Amino acid sequence: MNNRYKTALLFGAPGSGKGTQGRILGAIPGFYHFSCGEVFRRLNPDSELGQIFFEYSSRGELVPDEVTVRMWAESLNAHEVLGDFKPRSDLLILDGIPRTVEQARLMEDHIDVLMVIHLVCDDREEMIRRLRRRALKENRIDDADEKVIRNRWEVYEKETAPILDHYPMQRIREVNSLGSPAQVLSNVLTHLVPVQDRHFSTVEV
Ligand code: ADP
Repeated sequence: MNNRYKTALLFGAPGSGKGTQGRILGAIPGFYHFSCGEVFRRLNPDSELGQIFFEYSSRGELVPDEVTVRMWAESLNAHEVLGDFKPRSDLLILDGIPRTVEQARLMEDHIDVLMVIHLVCDDREEMIRRLRRRALKENRIDDADEKVIRNRWEVYEKETAPILDHYPMQRIREVNSLGSPAQVLSNVLTHLVPVQDRHFSTVEV
């Protein structure tokens, strides 16, 4: 159990800015960013897993838990073997996984969740605007249709939000995600830097 990855979760509804924050954090030495949605989108669309992903994501639904967690574990392991993820000096930043309580349970043997950063955004219209901008920029089918977006929020509330009760309250930090990326980042770092300092004595640049 001691060699579980030291981990922080980026948590929040679709459009709350997990991906933006995760990408910036991932550029800082000592943090390793893993986005589950990004790995899914990079799959070969003709592969079996690529087709499963397309089937669920185009409806705004979640890919089944076991398949998702297996894909996550294999992909992260490959990055560790390649040497771009260094568990001895990197705090793992997970974005978009776990997304159900069952995923959280399946991942428990692999990760030691030190902190959950909950990006909170009460302004639905702003989130819709963000998702629409992303649909145009990144050509995402799941952002293009408002019906699919609304379904993703429902799925978030029903299946993902309950994860917050799964982790001890003292490890959860709420961050308002309505500011500029730099403002939000500054608040996220206020919480994460002490965690990194506490658990890693050296950061490899
Ligand atoms: P968003 O946070 O905007 O919903 P993501 O890029 O994280 O976008 O995910 C896109 C889609 O990929 C999801 O709607 C879902 O179909 C699938 N997906 C991503 N992560 C998971 C996960 N942990 N479990 C199941 N499905 C997932």
